[in-house]
Amino acid sequence: MYAFQYRKAKSVDDAVSALAADADAKVLGGGQSLVAALKLRLAQPSALVDLGTIGDLRYIKVGAAEVTIGAMTTHATVAASPELKKAIPALADLAGDIGDRQVRNMGTCGGSIANNDPAADYPAACQGLVATIITNKRRIAADDFFKGLYETALEAGEIITAVSFPIPKRAAYMKFKNPASRFALVGVFVAETSAGPRVAVTGAGPGVFRVKDMEQALARKFAPESVAAIKVPADDLNSDMHAQADYRAHLITVMAKRAVEKALK
Ligand SMILES: Cc1cc2nc3c(=O)[nH]c(=O)nc-3n(C[C@H](O)[C@H](O)[C@H](O)COP(=O)(O)OP(=O)(O)OC[C@H]3O[C@@H](n4cnc5c(N)ncnc54)[C@H](O)[C@@H]3O)c2cc1C
Repeated sequence: MYAFQYRKAKSVDDAVSALAADADAKVLGGGQSLVAALKLRLAQPSALVDLGTIGDLRYIKVGAAEVTIGAMTTHATVAASPELKKAIPALADLAGDIGDRQVRNMGTCGGSIANNDPAADYPAACQGLVATIITNKRRIAADDFFKGLYETALEAGEIITAVSFPIPKRAAYMKFKNPASRFALVGVFVAETSAGPRVAVTGAGPGVFRVKDMEQALARKFAPESVAAIKVPADDLNSDMHAQADYRAHLITVMAKRAVEKALK
């Protein structure tokens, strides 16, 4: 680990000022990805600006049409929220299956979305639910937010403050996980939303993506058999020590079918 300054932010404005004053400073969320990167010397920020002391960023607000989650809300809090379990049970389920207890107690919704790990679960929920990412500057549609491997639409010094998820008619997430890390080898989030059916895939490629053929088939009939025969080409999918691309392609169809079945229960 390289030496760095540490600063507790008093407010979002305070954190934004600290980032503006130092181009090499980074915000610290729950530290579950960033601290590991520091230990491995993959990141060398001059300073960490800790958002952990900003209580205003930890909340879950369930409205009539949407759920808004503060950026510093932990996965454990999202998983345990009775209101969220009623409004969007698929999102609570997803959060409850992230990593292990320590990761869920420390890791945050905003940190996961900002990090955009190609196997992270929240990006699939964001695209699947047509979410909006809210920052200190603007609102960004999920379809425009996730740009590729660990890359997002966030500009330097921009901080996620909340994420807003419209409440779908029904939704479900199915993850085929790596048994060691619990990250998705393939995760598929399926939802029937006011914008039509959505199928968002994580873990399989360099970033989260939607399967439009499946969405069109589900628009004709929201049923497992609608997606059961739809194959996703393996060409652009990941091959690594955990799984080959053609295996991941196969898993997308299997997980999508299971997710539709679960959403209909
Ligand atoms: C063993 C292990 C298993 C895991 N398993 C899973 C899993 O199954 N599924 C899954 O999805 N994830 C998994 N994770 C990742 C975990 O969900 C992390 O919580 C998440 O990736 C990062 O969130 P964080 O709050 O810890 O962010 P940090 O690690 O603090 O930050 C990550 C990055 O986001 C930036 N950042 C943080 N907060 C904000 C903000 N509000 N605005 C702008 N930028 C911000 C930081 O500067 C940094 O670049 C796992 C992690 C570990 C260590």
